[in-house]
Amino acid sequence: MLQQTNMKRDVLLSNLEHQLEELANEMFQKNVEVLTDHEVYFCLLELVKRLMAVSGQISGEKKIYYISAEFLIGKLLSNNLINLGVYDELASILKSKGKDIARMEEIEPEPSLGNGGLGRLAACFLDSIATLGLPGEGIGLNYHYGLFKQVFKNKLQTAEKNDWIEERSWLTKTDVTFDVYFGKRKVTSRLYDIDVVGYGNDVNKLRLFDIESLDESIVKEGIDFDKDAIEKNLTLFLYPDDSDEAGNLLRIYQQYFMVCNAAQLILREMKEKKYDLRKLYNHAVIQINDTHPTMVIPELIRILVNEKAFTMDEAIEVVSKTCAYTNHTILAEALEKWPLKYLEKVVPQLVPIIKELDKRVKAKYKNPEVQIIDKDGRVHMAHIDIHYGFSVNGVAAIHTEILKDTELNDFYKIYPEKFNNKTNGITFRRWLLSCNRELAGYLSQVIGDGYKKDANELEKLLGYSDDQEVLDRLAEIKMNRKKELAAYVKVAEGVELNPDSIFDIQIKRLHEYKRQQMNALYIIHKYLEIKGGKKPSTPLTFIFGAKAAPAYIIAQDIIHLLLVLQDIINNDPEVSPYMTLLMVENYNVSYAEKLIPACDVSEQISLASKEASGTGNMKFMLNGAVTIGTSDGANVEINELVGDENIYVFGEKSEAVIEHYAKADYVSKDYYKKSPVIKEAVDFIVGKQALARGNKENLKRLYNELLNKDWFMTLLDLEEYIETKDRMFGDYENRQKWKKMMLANIAKAGFFSSDRTINEYNRDIWKLK
Ligand SMILES: *Cc1c(COP(=O)(O)O)cnc(C)c1O
Repeated sequence: MLQQTNMKRDVLLSNLEHQLEELANEMFQKNVEVLTDHEVYFCLLELVKRLMAVSGQISGEKKIYYISAEFLIGKLLSNNLINLGVYDELASILKSKGKDIARMEEIEPEPSLGNGGLGRLAACFLDSIATLGLPGEGIGLNYHYGLFKQVFKNKLQTAEKNDWIEERSWLTKTDVTFDVYFGKRKVTSRLYDIDVVGYGNDVNKLRLFDIESLDESIVKEGIDFDKDAIEKNLTLFLYPDDSDEAGNLLRIYQQYFMVCNAAQLILREMKEKKYDLRKLYNHAVIQINDTHPTMVIPELIRILVNEKAFTMDEAIEVVSKTCAYTNHTILAEALEKWPLKYLEKVVPQLVPIIKELDKRVKAKYKNPEVQIIDKDGRVHMAHIDIHYGFSVNGVAAIHTEILKDTELNDFYKIYPEKFNNKTNGITFRRWLLSCNRELAGYLSQVIGDGYKKDANELEKLLGYSDDQEVLDRLAEIKMNRKKELAAYVKVAEGVELNPDSIFDIQIKRLHEYKRQQMNALYIIHKYLEIKGGKKPSTPLTFIFGAKAAPAYIIAQDIIHLLLVLQDIINNDPEVSPYMTLLMVENYNVSYAEKLIPACDVSEQISLASKEASGTGNMKFMLNGAVTIGTSDGANVEINELVGDENIYVFGEKSEAVIEHYAKADYVSKDYYKKSPVIKEAVDFIVGKQALARGNKENLKRLYNELLNKDWFMTLLDLEEYIETKDRMFGDYENRQKWKKMMLANIAKAGFFSSDRTINEYNRDIWKLK
């Protein structure tokens, strides 16, 4: 069967040009030559969808269901073409018809079904699961407007809807619908699928649930809408504002909607395949990506007891053997704790189950730290996952150690066998083969194609550490990406970048723990140095990209500061020849694909212990950037791989940071008073120049925050950061040394292939085959 369908694909693949012309005729009654770019894009979309439809489905006795609130998949056209093995051929067919494939790639709208690293990880995992030929699907929601689109107005972030679903898209409407009950309130779901084709392999599916009664017209100004009308709003936005009760309830509605559909989908498949439900765990493993899908546990138990004649004991046992949990954060505020009274409002049918699960824990363990329902009536979602799942994994070595030793230590003592580490990874198809085709092609030339299937083969590059031609070519390719980025940014942002300057890039969600504000203080320091006559030998370009949660006030203030600094620096003729600052608008996957290959210096400066892993750090390394970072998340493993001589590490270690929190002995003002350099930079935020171009309210609030609270200890590491960064920029002058560092970073990046990560998940947790 599999062979037959692959034959069909082979037939289509063997005459792509003919297929494309037929589609152009069928869809637009025209020849490809005279189609608009948008029409060509639609033809390509349809062609790829057909190629995937006739491809074999990956199948097996046991399947992984990766449930996630986010799948930050990015654009799909070029990646699908690469994975199908037809990118080059189609590009040349199009060229022969006067069409440039790069323009079609630009036209594709980016789905914003995710927010940051966690959602991007889910997308990389889908690619690797299919590439490794493992049967698996992602299950999530089809948000029509996804995460908001960021627009800067008056140097402030504003939010607009991202209307990404066009008349033709990667979504395929299925005839699968389910009833979902919120107490007595019933809604009907509809399943949409997106095919996920592995690299040189068959196809899995991403399954996105939607609600039939959705009403897009209720979105008025920006991203405001009536939060109570869940029949109309349920799948409009990812992470709707949760600063009030209605917003919190909506998130619970979304989460339950997701897992109720997931549970029905999985059980339906068990029935179709005539599998014994009492052996569910032999056929299904559910990976719970962060706490958002936690309710799948009580939901499955509820169904097995109420509809499948399981006893409570039996249901708990079967479900616990099926579910595994991934922890992505130790930030207390990011660990979900829903008030029981909210759950009673939204999903009263789950409350007796959750109470039963809690009762069993309380009967066994007296420690209040491990209870599911705490004394304030809040339900700790992660605690459900840990007690009633069979695996708990962190996402980088240091992160898992902190979970075991500190944050989840009480659980580790009860269930040491459940804890395991799975260091994150990235798919090299997107983050090298697609986003940096020239580098990928050159690597093939030097070390052969093998690295595309076995990323560890990148290490062969180390044999060329002293090969001048290789070193020079790597630098030349970097320069080409910098020039391309400069050309793009000039149009998109109206800012001129100098490709001969050092491109220093920090792109990631805006959060105080990631410390964009520390980078901003460095930039202020540099600005003042240049004003004082101390000019850098090579000009510096600082680039930021970041969205901030709309309700996160200080994050908005940091964006404001960056935009104010951009205005000051880029318009100061004394400084602008030596230094440029750019905060790009609406940072997303497509932007990352342009920025990362053009980067010299990768900024990974989170407060040690706070960044669970990071995956941006891996993408940069793979593309030949050198990291400046703290000993946090996967930076630690990058450091171990490349050695101290190929990375710039600074800052207080995680043990020391954890101790500062335990003793509550960090006082930011002490650092401010002690160091004239720090004081000068911090004072600049509310100085005359900044106030002349920015809002007093935002700048003053940020200044006060830094001086009087600074929960994420910006000033703790600032001096060492300045020293380290200055040393790094100095080292850039030694071009030979720098090129060797680039080479070492690329060569050692193989470990961070998500293929490696997924092999480990499968070996230790999923055990699919
Ligand atoms: C990789 C990626 C992230 C994660 O970046 P970190 O630096 O690991 O936080 C966030 N957003 C996008 C668009 C990405 O591609």
